Amino acid sequence: MEEEISFEAKVLHTPFEKPDAYSSLSMPVYNTAAYEFQTAEEMEEAFCGITSDPTYSRISNPTVTYFEDRVRAITGALSVTALNSGMAAITNALMTVSRAGGNIVTSSHLFGNTYSLISTTLKGFGVESRFCDLTQIEEVRKAVDENTCAIFLEVITNPQMEIADLKQLSEVAEAAGVPLIADTTIVPFSVFDAKKFGVHIEIVSSTKYISGGATSIGGLLIDYGTFDWSKAKALAFWNNQFGKRAFTLRLTKEIHRNIGAYMTPQVAYMQTLGLETMELRFERQAKTSLELAERLQSLPGILSVNYTGLKDNPFYELSLAQFGKYPGAMLTFDLASRAACFSFMNRLKLIRRATNLFDNKTLAIHPASTIFGGFSEKQRKNMDISQQTIRLSIGLETADDLYNDIKQALT
Ligand SMILES: *Cc1c(COP(=O)(O)O)cnc(C)c1O
Repeated sequence: MEEEISFEAKVLHTPFEKPDAYSSLSMPVYNTAAYEFQTAEEMEEAFCGITSDPTYSRISNPTVTYFEDRVRAITGALSVTALNSGMAAITNALMTVSRAGGNIVTSSHLFGNTYSLISTTLKGFGVESRFCDLTQIEEVRKAVDENTCAIFLEVITNPQMEIADLKQLSEVAEAAGVPLIADTTIVPFSVFDAKKFGVHIEIVSSTKYISGGATSIGGLLIDYGTFDWSKAKALAFWNNQFGKRAFTLRLTKEIHRNIGAYMTPQVAYMQTLGLETMELRFERQAKTSLELAERLQSLPGILSVNYTGLKDNPFYELSLAQFGKYPGAMLTFDLASRAACFSFMNRLKLIRRATNLFDNKTLAIHPASTIFGGFSEKQRKNMDISQQTIRLSIGLETADDLYNDIKQALT
């Protein structure tokens, strides 16, 4: 029997679907809008899905397909679709499972744009949003009914860093016949196996760990092929034709094709390269995060540190069980006031003032006045966004470099 190859090896050695004419070792960037056919018959077969030959780059492109194939190889998914942002991946996923009159059960602890998408945009199309506390499983059970199209969550919420019990959520989802859709951007595939925890559809903003130094914006929509789509009203037509591929087929043949937010080949090329070194970078960034979080706990001026890898964090045990010892490379800490946060931000010398996560450089942001700046104080309170919180995305500098910069910025 053949030995199973490692995650690290799989990421590097996924073969091309067709051999390259020049035996290029890297997947070439196919900068083309359309593809030519030898005969009308071949053209019909490609357009009607009998062959998988590309027809037009809004729908598929060999360079993007290759990026998707690599992600499929490391996740064991049924299908992977690369979109041109994390938000495009979330929008495509939720539109594929939803219909007017349906509802989405989720938490108000969500990335700001996702919250706005669910509470405002989708609501405008007749999809009700049901916000509840996903850490209270009875609340979730009560919120789900026969019109629920999905349970949606972020596995570690950004920036509250709340963790719901995925085993419990997946039991509720299975019992109700509702897909469990998870945004796993905060922890990469190398440490978190979403399928094992009952996630049916996984979403990743590949802008973050995968892009490799914040080179580009992108998103991944991953279908594990584990949900029985006969239970989903919005997918009845597709389920009758395609069974377990119903979600993927509605996505590719209707939603993503019609929305037109496919990844471009240049971005797929950069993100394929980024994927090759993701595990190495993550290991370093996550180790630094834990060390720094521990050291910041006793630094004068810092009232509290939030990182779920800390032993006294309320989510520590669950975090360890679901994500291992190093739950991501994002942490937050609280200072005395909004003014103290602004003064801290302005004194930083090494750490950069910028949004984004998991760049090679460490980034700091004051979420309340930026990402959540467009919400009212009442909404922010509802979302647990405090004026006292600073969020750090940890890069490749050493823990000493970061500790020293934070220390000088506090005084
Ligand atoms: C950044 C982010 C997104 C959005 O991704 P984009 O690539 O910026 O569209 C969604 N969810 C989480 C948790 C994120 O951090």
